[in-house]
Amino acid sequence: MELLNLTTNVKQIQDDVLKEILTLNANTEYLRGYIHGSSDKELFKKNVPVVSYDDVKPYIQRVASGEPSNVISGKPITRFLLSSGTSGGKQKIFPVNNKFFEDMAFIYALRSFLISKHTEGDEKGKVVMLFFAREQSISPCGLPISTSVTGYLLSDSFKNRPSNCFTSPDEVMLCPDLKQTMYCHLLCGLLQRGEVVAVAASFASSLVGAITFLESYWKEICNNIRSGHVSEWITDLSCRDAVTNILGGGNSELADKIEEECNKTSWKGIIPRLWPNVKFIQSIVTGQNSQYIPMLEFYSNKVHLFSPAYGSSETMFGVNVNPLRKPEDVSYTFMPNISYFEFILADKGNEGEIVDLVNVEIGSYYEPLITNYYGLHRYRMGDILQVSGFYNNAPQFRFVGRKKLVLSVNLEVTTEEDILKALNNATLVLQRSNLLLMGFTSYADISTLPGHYIFYWELKAKNISDIVKPDNKVLVECCCVMEESLSALYREIRSKDGSIGPLEIRIVQQGTFNSLMEFSISQGASPSQYKTPMCIKSSEALVVLHNNVLARFFSDKSPPF
Ligand code: AMP
Repeated sequence: MELLNLTTNVKQIQDDVLKEILTLNANTEYLRGYIHGSSDKELFKKNVPVVSYDDVKPYIQRVASGEPSNVISGKPITRFLLSSGTSGGKQKIFPVNNKFFEDMAFIYALRSFLISKHTEGDEKGKVVMLFFAREQSISPCGLPISTSVTGYLLSDSFKNRPSNCFTSPDEVMLCPDLKQTMYCHLLCGLLQRGEVVAVAASFASSLVGAITFLESYWKEICNNIRSGHVSEWITDLSCRDAVTNILGGGNSELADKIEEECNKTSWKGIIPRLWPNVKFIQSIVTGQNSQYIPMLEFYSNKVHLFSPAYGSSETMFGVNVNPLRKPEDVSYTFMPNISYFEFILADKGNEGEIVDLVNVEIGSYYEPLITNYYGLHRYRMGDILQVSGFYNNAPQFRFVGRKKLVLSVNLEVTTEEDILKALNNATLVLQRSNLLLMGFTSYADISTLPGHYIFYWELKAKNISDIVKPDNKVLVECCCVMEESLSALYREIRSKDGSIGPLEIRIVQQGTFNSLMEFSISQGASPSQYKTPMCIKSSEALVVLHNNVLARFFSDKSPPF
């Protein structure tokens, strides 16, 4: 189905999708209890309840434990996807079958089509695609449990993709060792540097992580290129063979060129310097990942950042049909052929009304409700989106944030969006110094009264040989600017009755956020989906940060309100 048809006949396609899902699943144990075998839309809306993960978890668990798929799904479940969201401290799992990966392939194809429509010449080039497959686990019933990207890389949709434009062979993407994969991705990408038109990763955090990795490994990579021999520690044999194949004989001219760029004091614009024909950088830079925009802009030096799509372990949603838009103006156009989408109004004071995809209104805030093919019916996503416009008849949504409140020490409610706004304003102040913000998280400290907000920042000098020396005046101003950017209620409570103390920034040693990630992974988080949390809740994670504090700065005045 082409884009015009999909975005024009939205209502008809959505009605057909719901009919198909209900026909398929009407006799599952879950749906039978509500709609008694019918596939009628009105009955579905009247009888099927809006649910959260904990409501459907027992059904999912039963299938994972070996009961037949038709407890929840008319078609057999073939895999469970591990989401970055948690329930009761554990990662959520979602049942799927091959259709999920066909939808992923459809979204990837649509992204490529949109890029080639808006840029010239990229179809002839290659993409450094930083895909990482992770180790799978097996559910008690014998079905694999994996991240969505791992599932996709193992699916027929990926294996039989119509064209291959990636610099890395499949063996590199499928290698379960994160460090070996990262090294080989970069090695293969650099070997084919002249052909590369795009550098891509699912999330901006992975791209920034790749550049940081390169800072430590470029000398070794250049040695491999010069000698034509892959480092001995690349022990995954199929990965090693595939990379050796690309490496060919030694190429000292190429190694010299790469070395010359990496040896320069500043890594500003390192991406186009290493890949001179790169036309865009592709990764999600909305939501939590917007914090990486300044870093990526530094490394990419005006090469366009393209935030391609919005998707989750529950369903794919849509694509950014205007790839040339600035990261802060990105919106995603929902594709009506993937799942049935409803929306709960989340505008302050008017929460609760449920509307169909075609009935959302520009400017309003909504939480999506998903009805997919594999057993989720009217499932609350927990994301908040704002309607920014329409592409033909298909609504476009700006990603606002995850629904939950993030910080609060008094009556005020500080959301992810508030934090990102405050942080963006503070980074404008920071930009005047020679420092870059590498990572951040926050904590609502109520151990002393009045409680106050603590932001942990990891900084880095723009010139890699420089030492990080935070300037007191700049950092205090950052604290003040952040406070000025927070909600009216925050500023009122802080200034008027002093029930919120001065906001604090704690500078942590370089590498602290890496340690935080390693800590979370040791606690069961998935490495390929790991995103630094906006706010720290676990006391052990806090200890990791606390042990690495180098300096502390406080806001020195009350914000205006
Ligand atoms: P997971 O199920 O682990 O893949 O995580 C899915 C969640 O990641 C979504 O519910 C969103 O909160 C977030 N996410 C996915 N795509 C985007 C995007 N394009 N922009 C912002 N957040 C996103």
